[in-house]
Amino acid sequence: MAALLAYRRYTLPFQTPVRTAHGPWGERTGLLVRVETEGPRIGFGEIAPLPWFGTETTDEAETALQSLGGLLTAPLLAAFPRHLACTRHGLAEALAATADTATSGVSAPYLPVAALLPAGRPALAVAAAKADAGFRTFKWKVGVGDLADELGLLDDLLARLPEGARLRLDANGAWDRRQTERWLDRCADRPIEHVEQPIAPATRGAADLLLGLAHDYPTPLALDESLVRDGDVDRWLDAGWPDVWVLKPTLLADPAAVIGKLARRGVPVVFSSALETALGAGSALRHAFAWPGEQRALGFGVWPLFADRRFDGPAAAPFIRAEDLARLPSGETLWNALS
Ligand code: MG
Repeated sequence: MAALLAYRRYTLPFQTPVRTAHGPWGERTGLLVRVETEGPRIGFGEIAPLPWFGTETTDEAETALQSLGGLLTAPLLAAFPRHLACTRHGLAEALAATADTATSGVSAPYLPVAALLPAGRPALAVAAAKADAGFRTFKWKVGVGDLADELGLLDDLLARLPEGARLRLDANGAWDRRQTERWLDRCADRPIEHVEQPIAPATRGAADLLLGLAHDYPTPLALDESLVRDGDVDRWLDAGWPDVWVLKPTLLADPAAVIGKLARRGVPVVFSSALETALGAGSALRHAFAWPGEQRALGFGVWPLFADRRFDGPAAAPFIRAEDLARLPSGETLWNALS
């Protein structure tokens, strides 16, 4: 049975440009999709690619939607090109919403959120303010400035964190082997929760390098950019990745399947934002709340994010409660906001 398919493209400026490994990023583009099945039953989904992270572009997603000619069926979706994972994700979410098979179940009443710290020295003041606000897990962007300067700030930053706090470092693939080893030597006797993606996935020999570093140093490493392409999670499971997995559910064609595999292995997972709107974020957070394993602080301390606040999720607080998800704007509200 075919569902009617419509989509609307969005371009949402950020309140302040987001600093990425590839320079400043001023506005987010993506697509909301609406499917209508008999009944009628209506479902919405979000396609929020992060091309600089390794996904398709919004243009590629839009071209793929155009090619469907306004109709979607389950076989069409199953035959979709594998590399269009974000597009498949949004379409599958919308179809699932019409069939009431969307993610449900809550394993915790609330989940902690990691406070995002800016790169460099500004992290020190922000860390103190976030600690006062009640945050206990902090994520610091590294690999942005001079390596020695950043290393020199580490102890100043740790000194500003409250007793028992956890600090994550996120290098976004900025380092080579030698730079990573310098950092991991420094981290070895310090309370660092994990070091995220020290080596870029496109680096030659990245997988062996990451596995070797994970085994050689006590500080756990986390994969993030390495988990974006189709089949990445299976490859890393086969390789026996021993440390942490950062999942951005919005970037996965079938997050439930991936999450199920990781849950059966009992591995540590951190759920993280892809800077999507409240529609995609709600779906991603429902996956996080349904996670049956140990809960780590969410990588969702991103709001307020958009200049148009209607598209934001709950403002960054030390915790997100399960009941906050019910208060997120509906797909229909966001769809109408784009008309
Ligand atoms: Mg990351």
